Amino acid sequence: MNKINREHFNLSGESENENWVAGFEEGSRKRIMKQSENSPEFEELLAKIDFNSLREIFSNIAEKSGVDSEKINFLNPERISNSLSSKEGERMAEFSIMENIIYASHEEIKRYSSDMGLNKDLMVLQVLCHEETHAISYTSCVGLKEFIRNKNGVIETQSGFSIGTIQKENESSQFNSLFRFFDEGVTEKIAREITSEYLDKNPDFSKTENVKEFEDVLYSKKGKMPYDGSVLFLEGFIKKIGLAVGLDEETVWHAIIRGKIEGINFNDTEFKNSFSEMFPPNFFYDLSKVSSDGQMFNLIERLDLRENIKNKPSFSEKIKTWISDLSSKIS
Ligand SMILES: [Zn+2]
Repeated sequence: MNKINREHFNLSGESENENWVAGFEEGSRKRIMKQSENSPEFEELLAKIDFNSLREIFSNIAEKSGVDSEKINFLNPERISNSLSSKEGERMAEFSIMENIIYASHEEIKRYSSDMGLNKDLMVLQVLCHEETHAISYTSCVGLKEFIRNKNGVIETQSGFSIGTIQKENESSQFNSLFRFFDEGVTEKIAREITSEYLDKNPDFSKTENVKEFEDVLYSKKGKMPYDGSVLFLEGFIKKIGLAVGLDEETVWHAIIRGKIEGINFNDTEFKNSFSEMFPPNFFYDLSKVSSDGQMFNLIERLDLRENIKNKPSFSEKIKTWISDLSSKIS
């Protein structure tokens, strides 16, 4: 049950008891699955998705990034619950780090698809690939057991590059996170690649013309897909780092994927110092605080991609080592 890229710690910093974690996850699963809205349409669609094929694609990504694919936290339909609020404008889906469950709202996905003129079944596939990408990312949770027992306190979480705290006092709870939208951009870019690969390998999933139309939207990045701004930012970021360390964009991208699965902490002081050499003052701080996709889009101009940064005097050893370490393990 122990998964290398999913860790729980108690408040004293020791690893949480594995049986307690497994029991908590199983109890949560049973409770949440019972709350799933009965939707034969959604269940039929889940049954149509070949989860073995999907798992294999995720495993390949993990292996390519040097992570043992047996250890990734890929979720089967038994942990996918159609129980998010179906009120208009609510979220289409989310992954719960604590419960290890993907929540979805099939109604909201259908509404979004119809508003954007997208095929609804392909949108479900894409949204699930996005949430599965969160699930296979490195996650850590500090203080969950104490939080559950006391019904108050603080949980510290990391999910990929996103670092968060959940604070609960009596009835009010507060959620704060850093680098959340950077992580969403990485999640979404991986999910888009996986969706395309899945559709290539499973041509029966949808009609060719539907797939072509959907992929046109997926890759046009004109704001029809969630996180288009964050993906565009990320692509500029990859370019900037590639120029700075003299590596091609593909290599930098795989290093970032590995960082997400292994859980690189951008708040690490050395990282912060290194990045601040590369970007304008406060850039990295502002990136950590971004709270909308539009703000990510606006940050693109501060990447200053016109500048020939190769001529800048030094780029910190930390970033060079990070990229070359990560990329050396990638075939
Ligand atoms: Zn997400």
